[in-house]
Amino acid sequence: MKTLVDRAREGRVTGPLRAVARAEKLDPSLLLEGIAAGSVVIMRRGRRSVGIGQGLRTKVNVNIGTSPTRIDPEGELKKAAIAEKYGADTLTDLSMGGNIQDIRRGIFQATELPITTVPIYQAAAEIGPEEMDEGDILRIIRTQAEEGVSSFVLHCPDTRIIERYRRGKRIMGVVSKGGSLTIAHMVRHRCENPFISRFDEILRILRKHDIVLSLGNTMRSGCIHDFRDAPQIQEIRKNVQLARLANGEGVQVIIEGVGGHVRADRIAGEVRYQKRLGNFPLFVAGPLPTDIAVGHDHMAGCVGASIAAGAGADYLCYLTPAEHLGLPDPDQVREGLMAFRIAAHIGDSIKFGPGERDRRLSLARRRLDWEGQFRHALDGEPSRRMAPAAGPCTMCGDFCAIELMRNL
Ligand code: SF4
Repeated sequence: MKTLVDRAREGRVTGPLRAVARAEKLDPSLLLEGIAAGSVVIMRRGRRSVGIGQGLRTKVNVNIGTSPTRIDPEGELKKAAIAEKYGADTLTDLSMGGNIQDIRRGIFQATELPITTVPIYQAAAEIGPEEMDEGDILRIIRTQAEEGVSSFVLHCPDTRIIERYRRGKRIMGVVSKGGSLTIAHMVRHRCENPFISRFDEILRILRKHDIVLSLGNTMRSGCIHDFRDAPQIQEIRKNVQLARLANGEGVQVIIEGVGGHVRADRIAGEVRYQKRLGNFPLFVAGPLPTDIAVGHDHMAGCVGASIAAGAGADYLCYLTPAEHLGLPDPDQVREGLMAFRIAAHIGDSIKFGPGERDRRLSLARRRLDWEGQFRHALDGEPSRRMAPAAGPCTMCGDFCAIELMRNL
């Protein structure tokens, strides 16, 4: 079966490509070039196609899913519905508690958004991080592929990177859950990374189902003082090498990087460095430019993600106010999503210039047209609760600058 990349390399404009070109207001031939070259991917599920990569609007992913200590499938479905309603582009199901397969199937039914999974989560939760073997991991990858996930995250540090990491002096060590499960498996079984040793087999599965490969960011820094050590650089290079291999086989690839906690003054340079090494769509988690915004990490993350997106990151993974503290509730999912939609929009105004929507909102604001402002706002609901029905607001009342200037 031919993949989207194969078809793009043959110069064929397929349905998903046409849909993304329409949504992005782009010439399909430009998109064709991006997909053929690997700088753009299309995440698909059912009729939904979301383009991610160079020259496209910055996209936002929302993580949901149960944990071993909080298993509320209904709550996760509610979060999926909120994510879709408030403008998430994709969802990642990170469930590790309860009947994971049933929960995933429920999420599939609750939303049309493309869905990413991290197969090692299910393997570790169902079999145990010590007991699972390569065969178990491959079986779960195959099952999830057959169920129709849009993308998988695989963490691919090799033994050399882990040895280097163990000689280092990080404060926070490894903070990637999928990465730490992968490392634990490798250390306990004294083996090479199963995603690397079985890479050819995994590529065949990805090709067969035309699934996007997302290369995880195991070595991301867990605090700003850990930023950019040798294992991080080695992992970036390894991911680029694997991405080239996979893309050469016609598989779409996203690379996760510049995630975790990154000093504000280094975010833009790091994004550009990674894009120079390999121009694949770059997915960033956060990044958080400070460690002390706990309880407000979605706000700190919004700052980091705005800088990252403006410098060229293509795809943002949201953070919620509950980051580092617990599983978010549905309201926190909404807050986190809005913070990152704002970041994506700011990033796009750096990438592409100020948007028409900003201009229209300002024109409405100049007219004291509240309905117009709600319509053009990223999220009109909270403003509707706060604004007056008509005329100046309570900030200045009779001394409203807009009215004073209008009446001069
Ligand atoms: S009252 Fe002040 S804040 Fe409110 S609309 Fe007028 S100028 Fe703006």
